[in-house]
Amino acid sequence: MTYAMITRMETEVVLQKLEAFYGVQEACWPADPYLFLVWWHCGYPASDATCTKGWESLNGETGVEPRQLLATPPQKLASALKSGGMVPELRAMRLKEIAARVQDELGGDLRAALVGPLTKVRKILKKFPNIADPGADRILLFGGIVPVAAVPSNCPHVLVRIQRGRERENYGVNYREAEQAIEAEVPEKFDARTRAYLLLKRHGQELCKRSNPKCDRCPVSGGCAYFAGKSRGRG
Ligand code: SF4
Repeated sequence: MTYAMITRMETEVVLQKLEAFYGVQEACWPADPYLFLVWWHCGYPASDATCTKGWESLNGETGVEPRQLLATPPQKLASALKSGGMVPELRAMRLKEIAARVQDELGGDLRAALVGPLTKVRKILKKFPNIADPGADRILLFGGIVPVAAVPSNCPHVLVRIQRGRERENYGVNYREAEQAIEAEVPEKFDARTRAYLLLKRHGQELCKRSNPKCDRCPVSGGCAYFAGKSRGRG
């Protein structure tokens, strides 16, 4: 499929325009790998809002350290997690699983275990519930462990649309294409890559939604390959 002939917008230019539009973004989740895993299970469906709600409740009711989670009866944990949304009982079980693994298999310190070759580190992270490659990348980047080219898991399509046009059906292909663009064009530094992650995430949540993107209000529409295609009736 060909789209209107527009020059591919460089990733840094995309990020500058998004930053000018949304302002500087800050992460609202804990940077520590273990605490992030707990936070991630505090809400369902997981979002900044649901996870933060459940996280605040859990902190107030039981605490979030492994020994505190293990010592709390499942019903009490589930009740503390209710404010984060659906399936609190299941999330309570997951939290116990996470706490047990960190305490029993990793000496109570997940961060200390995340050293050595990247494949080994990823393997450790992916043993935790609901953590696949995108989640592992997010933990590595925001935890200050490896400045990988993490892509927000719910919107890998954003950069792909801007630079290539309509995204593919296959999630993995979109993720890899976005990852490659970041890898090639965003310096391999924690601050640069967290900035890219947060801006793309914000844009994916706010305007460049998976279905029905709000192109008429978008700050990068002038250089977006997807929009150029849509304008020509190919959207
Ligand atoms: S113009 Fe539309 S498709 Fe392109 S980035 Fe903006 S919202 Fe997304």
